[in-house]
Amino acid sequence: MNFGARKRRTAAATKAAGLDGILITHLPDVRYLCGFTGSNAALAMAGGTAVLFTDGRYTAQAKAEAVGTRVVIANKPVVAAACEWLVEKSVKRCGFDALHTTVAALESMHKAVPTKVRRGMFVASEPVVARLREVKDVDEISKIRKTASLGGQLFDGMLEYLRPGLKEMEVAAELEYRARLAGAEAMSFETIVASGERSALPHGRASLAKLPKRGFVTMDFGVVLDGYMSDMTRTVHLGRAVNGEQDVYHAVLEAQVAAVAAVAPGVTAGEVDEAARSVLRRAGLDTFFTHSTGHGVGLEIHEGPRLAAKQTQPLKAGMVITIEPGVYIPGRFGLRIEDMVLVTPAGGEVLTPSVKAWIEL
Ligand code: ZN
Ligand code: ZN
Repeated sequence: MNFGARKRRTAAATKAAGLDGILITHLPDVRYLCGFTGSNAALAMAGGTAVLFTDGRYTAQAKAEAVGTRVVIANKPVVAAACEWLVEKSVKRCGFDALHTTVAALESMHKAVPTKVRRGMFVASEPVVARLREVKDVDEISKIRKTASLGGQLFDGMLEYLRPGLKEMEVAAELEYRARLAGAEAMSFETIVASGERSALPHGRASLAKLPKRGFVTMDFGVVLDGYMSDMTRTVHLGRAVNGEQDVYHAVLEAQVAAVAAVAPGVTAGEVDEAARSVLRRAGLDTFFTHSTGHGVGLEIHEGPRLAAKQTQPLKAGMVITIEPGVYIPGRFGLRIEDMVLVTPAGGEVLTPSVKAWIEL
């Protein structure tokens, strides 16, 4: 594990942001920095030290997981205990996560510190840990490879199962059952199975609708292995396509392949988005591509960078992103193709093993 290196990088980024301490309460960030997976935790860092605060339910688990980090079992809210420690460490400017801190938590942070040090102590800083997490280390990449590969295997196995008349819900249940049997801790998000006209819904969660004799089935799902999430989408066609579905499919596939080919360190997220979007524009389908091209993925399903129009953030080697253009024609049909892609010094490496060619079942 690289917890030591991750904490050192966090300390350096904290300092660079003009802070002398940081309070980390977003649980995926806590897990990233010390390995602790419990549901109640705060990690405080100052003066080269990190302390994990949790409660009595997690005494044994914290000791086992957070190796190399001091653990305090707090008998008060963990945020309050962490703030008291930060005051003890004479922290004057402490960054906190504005995106994930509730008003109530902020109030208890303020209450935990004496009035005379309170003023200006808590700074809604830039998301220090989220930024670091965008670039995956070797350990994370090996875990992400495994989860992406399991996702692909599960999809491949489902091809024999899919048939007209099954409810979307049954398809999702079967997929999730197989995922658990294969060792998945959970699904990354609510499984999307959208068939027939419902395939025109970009996020059509599995419903009681039945798979049609003729039409698309889009499956977008992910599995969690060792905390790391996969995310993939494939769209297959049941029966013979007769209404131009195949042309639209090939345009989306071309857009997806073009965006993957555009991936390289230094290329901006917006340029990758444009690589997909311009293919669909030429095909006259861009108005039906109503979402962004992709997102970072790791301990959370949606992380930075965001691959959308005009995003100027440059890609870096070690980022893991999705590339997922789609076309959704209301009242008719829709489809999406999504891979996970590792940014390497040489370009984009697709981690999702399943084929993307037209599949007719
Ligand atoms: Zn997805
Ligand atoms: Zn996605």
